Amino acid sequence: MSNQGIVTLPLPKGFGIEVDLESGEVRKQIAPGQYEVDQFEAVATSYLLRSAARKLLARFRWVKASGMEVPAYRVVRCGVAVIDQKQGVAIYRAIQHKRAHFGGIVQCGSVWHCPVCARKIAVRRRAELVIATNRMNESGGVCGLLTCTVPHAASDRCADVLERLQRLFDRLNSGKAAKSFRDRFAVVGQIRALEFTKGLNGWHPHVHSLLFCEKPVQWLEVGNALWSRWASAALREYGWNLPRLALDVRGGNTAGEYVGKWGLEFEVAGGSLKSARGDSFTPFGLLGQYSEGDKAAGESWVEYATAVSRMGQDRIESSRQLVWSRGLKARFQIADLTDEQIAEAQEEPSVLLGSLNFEQWLKVLGQPFDARVVLLQIASVGTFEDVLSFVNSLPECQDKTLFSRS
Ligand SMILES: [Zn+2]
Repeated sequence: MSNQGIVTLPLPKGFGIEVDLESGEVRKQIAPGQYEVDQFEAVATSYLLRSAARKLLARFRWVKASGMEVPAYRVVRCGVAVIDQKQGVAIYRAIQHKRAHFGGIVQCGSVWHCPVCARKIAVRRRAELVIATNRMNESGGVCGLLTCTVPHAASDRCADVLERLQRLFDRLNSGKAAKSFRDRFAVVGQIRALEFTKGLNGWHPHVHSLLFCEKPVQWLEVGNALWSRWASAALREYGWNLPRLALDVRGGNTAGEYVGKWGLEFEVAGGSLKSARGDSFTPFGLLGQYSEGDKAAGESWVEYATAVSRMGQDRIESSRQLVWSRGLKARFQIADLTDEQIAEAQEEPSVLLGSLNFEQWLKVLGQPFDARVVLLQIASVGTFEDVLSFVNSLPECQDKTLFSRS
């Protein structure tokens, strides 16, 4: 990669943006001759991690009935593929928050694979949780958080541990014993969240389930009732003698106490996407390690990414991250939107600054750094002319086929 130098873009309102074309670092002018690295970190980080996911999953291809070969995982096209080449790529700016975003490109909506879409979806899912727990509390009910784990070792495949966990969790929720448990504690529903971490003992998928009870309960009793069934199912299915801490139930009063546990807060925080939790990594944390050169972390992430997915009818389908029991959303009058619908929704009231044509978009994509992030920064503070002068200042990209084949 050759040193392409630094481009300085004069912007209105008395400041400018300086772009290092080699590193992609953007510095914002704060005083004459004085620049600081721009704080667009959360966006830049999630874009960086999405590019890592794209790189790792691009090798998985899907051959359609028509014989056409396409990427198997939607994240590979996310933020890159143009929906209509004639329309090009629209650039919008939110009226209130002034943040720019793209329109007319594919948004994958994959919570497991895409840090950009996961952030957006987490904001919405978090709001739904807050509504549901508040309504339950208002009507005199209570919520408690159940956590279920299964044993695992460094040599276990992620998919195998996940399958065992799901099997036991299905056991816990089916049959006569499950019904009498629900009757006994007035359980009207639950929201199951699947979560993954990877530590020294390998992949650790686990289930957090938010239980909704119509009347106050003793959480210790709830925990003991679930534990005895979890332990006997584990013994019967796999011959395991589980330690008591394999299952935990605790009550809580506010939604905030749950969302932190579920990792939704973590996704929303954005800037901390790359960090580890204690001595274990989240999947996006592994992507961060990979983007810093750790190839083993990348392969480990692929093991997880393929474990949460299976071949569907005409594409790869992924497990749902959050599953509400039947009727629970309707009970709390919450609209049932899919992750894809959330990802595709317009973020907030915005103005259209202008559109890039397909050639210009390829030029943006073909840079050695992520010019999309820089472009969004410029579009957040400048005019569409500023955006165009940035695009014009970029060197012609070398490999135009790279991004057009999708
Ligand atoms: Zn996406």
